[in-house]
Amino acid sequence: MTATLSKIIWLAFGAVWVVLRQAPGRRSRKTPVRYSARGARELVLLGASLTGLGIVPFVYFATHFPRFADYPFIPALSYLGIAVDAASLWLFYRTHRDLGHNWSVSLDLRERHTLVTTGIYALVRHPMYSGFWLMALAQLLLLPNWIAGPAGLIGFGILFFGRIGREEEMMITAFGDEYRSYMRRTSRVIPKIY
Ligand code: SAH
Repeated sequence: MTATLSKIIWLAFGAVWVVLRQAPGRRSRKTPVRYSARGARELVLLGASLTGLGIVPFVYFATHFPRFADYPFIPALSYLGIAVDAASLWLFYRTHRDLGHNWSVSLDLRERHTLVTTGIYALVRHPMYSGFWLMALAQLLLLPNWIAGPAGLIGFGILFFGRIGREEEMMITAFGDEYRSYMRRTSRVIPKIY
């Protein structure tokens, strides 16, 4: 394992993720939205996440900027990163399958939106965000650079903490006691912990 191979693996996982998102993206464009909490705030949060998980590491991959922040490559971290990235892709696959037409890239309620509490959603309320946390952790492990590595955790962290309360409020407004009781039985992203 070399630093270059580790970066290529990071990119390859990203490419698989983009492919995995194609079908849900097409379906979501076809499913009408009945309520949306999108706005300037959501745009900024999505921008932060895209910057940290996509733009900063891609610039590092393509140009090696910021080279001054490189640290010596540790193969064991990279192997761990592969395992974590594989787990994150599996979570994306499962969450899209379980969420079906209810998925949105932002905060929307679709026509005939149903509350999903089964499958992977029986374990935690936000398994897709668990997947993003793992993807960001894999980036840290695969890229030996003090800026490009942690950028994903920071960028997605901004989206997560800036959105999660509003998403849960939106779900309570839409589903009331059904969502409140779902909240009592589940954690947000790590079973039994958080
Ligand atoms: N936070 C979830 C879903 C992310 S996609 C996760 O991490 O798995 C964001 C959209 O999913 C939101 O617009 C919301 O309408 C919808 N959503 C979130 N939780 C849901 C649930 N349990 N059932 C159905 N839709 C849900």
